Amino acid sequence: MGFRYEGNAYDRRFLPRLTTGEIAAMPKDDALIVLPVGAVEQHGPHMPVFTDTLIGEALMAEAFEHLPADAPIWLLPSVGYGKSTEHAEHPGTITLSARTLMAVLEDIAASLARSGFKKLLLFNTHGGNADLLGMMAREIRIATGMAVYRLDPGAVGYSESFTDDEEKASGIHAGDVETSLVMAVCPDWVHPERAVREMPNFPRSPSFSFRAKSFAWTMKDISASGIAGDATKANPARGRAMLDRAGPLLAGALLEIAAFDMGSLKESPLREPSYKASSV
Ligand SMILES: [Zn+2]
Repeated sequence: MGFRYEGNAYDRRFLPRLTTGEIAAMPKDDALIVLPVGAVEQHGPHMPVFTDTLIGEALMAEAFEHLPADAPIWLLPSVGYGKSTEHAEHPGTITLSARTLMAVLEDIAASLARSGFKKLLLFNTHGGNADLLGMMAREIRIATGMAVYRLDPGAVGYSESFTDDEEKASGIHAGDVETSLVMAVCPDWVHPERAVREMPNFPRSPSFSFRAKSFAWTMKDISASGIAGDATKANPARGRAMLDRAGPLLAGALLEIAAFDMGSLKESPLREPSYKASSV
């Protein structure tokens, strides 16, 4: 029987496998805690609703294979449910409301801060979470004082050389990239014979576009099939190649974040303005 928790991430760096005493004793000033946030939502007629969370776990498993053994980077279980209200009408979508997800993130962050941790990374694999996570990263920083970071895997460009311009522009959901990845990770969970191609007609002016978030949309506004992209092009070998590319790139991003000093952001502490009232 196979099991889910395998590889370096789970053998060496899965925080909740430790005991409370071990967590109390571990050095925390430099420890970076990685919280993956995914989704359970429709991914077309051919893919499991667990796709986004599954991809997040797969990408982190790859990244942790490329970290030095002594890197102080720890993985948490995913927040498997995200804010998927844009897919809510499709059966199988299990969405948190924005307020619920905010509260879940606040509670996890407050617990980490109480345990003494100082650095939190929100690792996101669902586009519908992105705005909320950006806002919550700041709110958590304000509420807990922790350094809070954000990383979406697209930022490291792991899939760029594997996709064409059309997929880059319109392939935002259940298309070539996601389908290839899940085919590589859990082939039995994908039904390639049901895959279709459906490309939304996104406006592409600099001031009015999908990427610029110029319009609010739900999935039924942009797609009849539940896919935005070309799932028919997907294949497991390309998915595997993307994961191989993603591993070292994401490991590099994690190390960069873990080493970052929030105190380095100001140009110079000597330039701090003084607002002291002059004595009368
Ligand atoms: Zn997805």
